[in-house]
Amino acid sequence: MKVEVVGCGVAGLCAATTFAERGCEVRVVSKSDGPDASCCSWWAGGMLAPWCEMESAEPLIGIFGAESMAFWHRLELKPVANGTLVVAHSRDLPDLRQFSRRTTKWDWFDAAAVADLEPDLAGRFSNGLFFSGEAHFHPRDVLELLFARLEALGAKIEVERGMSAIELAGDPRDADWRIDCRGLAARDVLTDLRGVKGEMLVLETDEVSLSRPVRLLHPRIPVYIVPRGDNRFMVGATMIESDERDRVTARSVLELLSAAYAVHPSFGEAEIVEIGVDARPAYPDNLPRLRQRDRTIFINGLYRHGFLAAPALARRAADWVLEGKQFDGAVDTVHGDWRAA
Ligand SMILES: Cc1cc2nc3c(=O)[nH]c(=O)nc-3n(C[C@H](O)[C@H](O)[C@H](O)COP(=O)(O)OP(=O)(O)OC[C@H]3O[C@@H](n4cnc5c(N)ncnc54)[C@H](O)[C@@H]3O)c2cc1C
Repeated sequence: MKVEVVGCGVAGLCAATTFAERGCEVRVVSKSDGPDASCCSWWAGGMLAPWCEMESAEPLIGIFGAESMAFWHRLELKPVANGTLVVAHSRDLPDLRQFSRRTTKWDWFDAAAVADLEPDLAGRFSNGLFFSGEAHFHPRDVLELLFARLEALGAKIEVERGMSAIELAGDPRDADWRIDCRGLAARDVLTDLRGVKGEMLVLETDEVSLSRPVRLLHPRIPVYIVPRGDNRFMVGATMIESDERDRVTARSVLELLSAAYAVHPSFGEAEIVEIGVDARPAYPDNLPRLRQRDRTIFINGLYRHGFLAAPALARRAADWVLEGKQFDGAVDTVHGDWRAA
């Protein structure tokens, strides 16, 4: 079976890997020279946090996330599997309790346990929730690894060749199926896709040390901080209903910095080494979907769950194309509205 994958964000790279591993002849067509700052996946925090995400996401995301973990742990570059710590200041303890009611698979930590886990947070938080089963990685390293592995798996890669609207409207070129993973650019066909803008910072300081993602609950500015190694920390991320992919506002930077400062005042002395932005591709219900139009399957709507959900969606796309397996509640045209379950 010949499969053409369009796009090399996390959805495209997971799909191409899955089809290639299942014996297909894969060609990847990418607008850019491999994964880079032009795709939304570049800006992700790289948190694999299915249990924390249950606070606001539907159970399907937890199922996809738990399943995707196995895919990521098979890679040479293993995710750092040392959990997520969720904290709140004393005045926001009701928020922490509410978070605990909406989620599972956590342990309730007191101040001493928080300090044991993250010594630099000693004395700063009286309570925390520890999700020991979660993991994180550096998304850019992982995208580059997947991209490099594809060649080893025999995939043909055509970079810097954005497919035109005319090509995309027709049948796949020299392939049995096309897997369209263009993210927000696929709005030309998937007209109910929208963007949810996310801004992020990378800070550098040797005055704070964290070993795992720390989420701060705050009524106005919830934030997470993901350690990136080399004294660097990703601070993210805003959630703004907007398709804007290239403009970071002063307000967002102020809010992210204030929240990082609230986690640890030493972030006030950190150097800002990067400011980034993109818009997450999302359907109205914020759930990802597979959709079909003729011999094209679209993997899209990954919203804030790209790394969590992409491997599970790629597996379902391959089951569908290679084994004709359909899923409960599936409506398999691009005009329908169906969910891969
Ligand atoms: C600040 C921020 C933090 C995030 N943190 C996390 C996180 O911690 N964990 C998590 O799971 N998710 C996170 N996300 C969400 C995640 O980044 C997205 O869900 C994911 O990147 C969507 O991936 P995608 O492959 O669908 O789209 P993209 O990554 O945008 O990829 C689309 C690809 O299609 C290509 N393309 C477009 N048009 C064409 C064309 N005509 N021809 C050929 N190629 C084309 C593009 O060049 C690109 O390679 C975060 C997002 C943001 C913005």
